[in-house]
Amino acid sequence: MPNIIDNLSLIYQKIEHLAKKAGRHQGDVTLLAVSKGQPSSAIRQAYALGQRHFGENYLQEALDKQQQLADLTDICWHFIGPIQSNKARKVAEHFDWVHCIDRASIAKRLSACRPEKNSSLNVCLQVNIDSEESKSGVPVNQAEALAQAIIELPNLKLRGLMAIPQSRPTASEQQKPLAALAKLLSNLQSSSPQLSTLDTLSMGMSADLEAAIIEGATIIRIGTAIFGPRQTPK
Ligand SMILES: *Cc1c(COP(=O)(O)O)cnc(C)c1O
Repeated sequence: MPNIIDNLSLIYQKIEHLAKKAGRHQGDVTLLAVSKGQPSSAIRQAYALGQRHFGENYLQEALDKQQQLADLTDICWHFIGPIQSNKARKVAEHFDWVHCIDRASIAKRLSACRPEKNSSLNVCLQVNIDSEESKSGVPVNQAEALAQAIIELPNLKLRGLMAIPQSRPTASEQQKPLAALAKLLSNLQSSSPQLSTLDTLSMGMSADLEAAIIEGATIIRIGTAIFGPRQTPK
């Protein structure tokens, strides 16, 4: 049995230490606990330690767990997997954040399906920062056009950028795509007044935590280092 409490405490300490080292505040970096493949009991344990942000990749699995955890009303749920358009309605109804917007059509559907009673859905553009053939994400040179399309949508709030860089052999190599994503965010911020309020860089996982915090990550996504191996690996 992985010790979720110990693992999580260690990661909080690590984030605090790295943020300080990078001249940033601990509170500027949010830990997103990636709970895909983990049972709702594991989420409950992390919640008891104060963790509130959880990330899920698979819609049905997430909805089942949300039902089991309905008493924990202040959990902030992030959808971090690719979205098919037939799943957009449920995602818009049951999540607070979506990290993986890579085309205008999916953004339009999410906005159209967001219930009136909810506040705007927070979204990030997923950027294909290493220009990999096989990876999803908007190409760097199309990010501004997509951002401009999204800010027109009434029920979405564009927050920033997300990426899953290729893994590289050395820390300094690993820093390059993270720096590139940070640069893209700052270019977007200065490109128009409506984009100047973007405030989110969702980048950094267990392996590139330090580099991500140095480059300005505001959301770090970590799964197995908190919860141990996934029970339903996908
Ligand atoms: C699964 C996943 C993670 C977490 O990965 P771990 O290896 O479990 O830490 C982070 N980001 C995304 C987009 C994921 O799909």
